[in-house]
Amino acid sequence: MSACYNPFSIKGRCLLIFLGILLICPGTLEANLKKPVFAKQKKTIVLDPGHGGHDKGALGPDGTFEKNVTLDLARMLATELNNTYRVILTRTDDYFLNIPSRTSMANHVKADLFISIHSGGSFLHQASGITLYFFKEILESTLTPNIDPSRPFKEINNRSPWSNIQNRHQASSKILAQLMLNRINEQTIFKKSEILDAPLMVLEGADMPAVCLEIGYITNPAEEKSLQDISVLSNIAQGIRNGIDNFFEKVR
Ligand SMILES: [Zn+2]
Repeated sequence: MSACYNPFSIKGRCLLIFLGILLICPGTLEANLKKPVFAKQKKTIVLDPGHGGHDKGALGPDGTFEKNVTLDLARMLATELNNTYRVILTRTDDYFLNIPSRTSMANHVKADLFISIHSGGSFLHQASGITLYFFKEILESTLTPNIDPSRPFKEINNRSPWSNIQNRHQASSKILAQLMLNRINEQTIFKKSEILDAPLMVLEGADMPAVCLEIGYITNPAEEKSLQDISVLSNIAQGIRNGIDNFFEKVR
């Protein structure tokens, strides 16, 4: 009979008092029930594999398309990040997506980071190295027309509806670029690496810290070979992931 409820015992009286408090203050229980189990939400990262569909990007001497390398790396990076972050890819397969749609997607999901992935293309086969770009608006008269993802604004009719909103995130984007490059350099064999600012259209409409990576030059025969190597891409993905972790440790 010990399991039965006896209202005259001490335990029974305590239970009655407790139920009375809940009846008088129903909001207390309601508030407790509404508390999220996990107070800390996962950060959202949007990965943007450059090009796709008929837009093949740069072409390597051995026939490798930039659009395929960017998607391969984005998928690997998503796997790296998935346990810790909420990861969204702007494109998940080989189809065309215009540039404003990419940042629009990141803005609509209120992403914490936007990372656009490219590889360099040049008529000069010796052009090489990894470059991380952050956005910086410049005067039209000084625009340089030879940067792949940064096509000058005047050449593109469908500008982002969030034109130049990235300006407000310039400082944090630069920090993100530096941290990512530091950690990529620990993982890869690319001899040259640098950070540049540029008026990249793929970044201008992003309303969060954002960088564009050019992971080597696919038009450079040696680097094309590296970019065909799954272990090299995996190392780059690991470096990017470490840099992202460092960024959130720093800005938290
Ligand atoms: Zn590209």
